[in-house]
Amino acid sequence: MRINSKFNFVWNGFKISKPQMRARHIKMAKAVSISCALLFSQFTYAQLNIFTCEPEYAALAKELAPQAKIYSATTALQDPHLVQARPSLIAKMRRADLVICAGADLEVGWLPMLQMKSANAKVRSTDKGLFFATEHIDTLDKLTQVDRSMGDVHGLGNPHLHFDPQRLLTVAQALTVKLTNIDDDNASEYRQALKSFQQRWQTSIGHWQLLTEKLDGKKVIAYHSSFRYLFNWLGIEQIADLEPKPGLPPTSRHLAKLLKRATQGDIGAIIVASYQDERGANWLSERANLPVLVLPMSVGGNEKSTDLFELYYSVIDLLNSSLANSPLLDQSQQVGAK
Ligand SMILES: [Zn+2]
Repeated sequence: MRINSKFNFVWNGFKISKPQMRARHIKMAKAVSISCALLFSQFTYAQLNIFTCEPEYAALAKELAPQAKIYSATTALQDPHLVQARPSLIAKMRRADLVICAGADLEVGWLPMLQMKSANAKVRSTDKGLFFATEHIDTLDKLTQVDRSMGDVHGLGNPHLHFDPQRLLTVAQALTVKLTNIDDDNASEYRQALKSFQQRWQTSIGHWQLLTEKLDGKKVIAYHSSFRYLFNWLGIEQIADLEPKPGLPPTSRHLAKLLKRATQGDIGAIIVASYQDERGANWLSERANLPVLVLPMSVGGNEKSTDLFELYYSVIDLLNSSLANSPLLDQSQQVGAK
């Protein structure tokens, strides 16, 4: 990027003749090749191996450590709660210098197995190369008591935090501290990358807030608590869950109950994440005459979501397309609403 900006400065700043241009071109080419050699030596020296549990953390790592080799164990089309500890994942973890996961027990069913089988001491604990995003923020919906009858609940609070832009920024800061601890030689590069990310992210938050004004107070039915932070941020109310209990698929009895609720006229859409089963949502959609909205759960969850910024824009576009003009709360509920 630095090379690019220099390049632009020279070409945009002066009007030059053809021979001069050629001379400059040669000089420039030399400068570029020297810079490339320097960058290359720095990259090979600094290249960290980063393993992430979910694609949102691979995307965040790409922002904060662009020179690192980054691998995500799951895609946005996979359920991050349920992953097979495949040999290929074990091999990737064996080579990792840093492992980044959501934490709060989201990966409790598979991460410990990967850690054990990969036997990589570098990423065994959070005082070394293991980073849990939820340890650096306040999670929503912590439970004081958990028992098996409640289903597959998130007792340590909701781990799906990446749709809260402020919390994600806090995670980015903590992750930068971790990166500088692991790879001190490149500490200034990591701090620079964080600064750039912070600036672009803060500016985007401003845009997103303007774009989502109409979503405040809208009601939806959704699958799991996947978008809890998104709804919390935008003032959307999840009236009901397609899951009868966390981790359980919708039953016909539960769907019948939801249908009764859905036909009251105040719900704008049924929301499912890119990896979730749409059958229950479609059943309800047909009978309650409500749109089903499939939101990308993470980067790569649809064509537009190529990085964290585009993921947010895509989700906002989709929500606006079917929810912005849906019925608002009725009068009595508006009085009590915040
Ligand atoms: Zn979950």
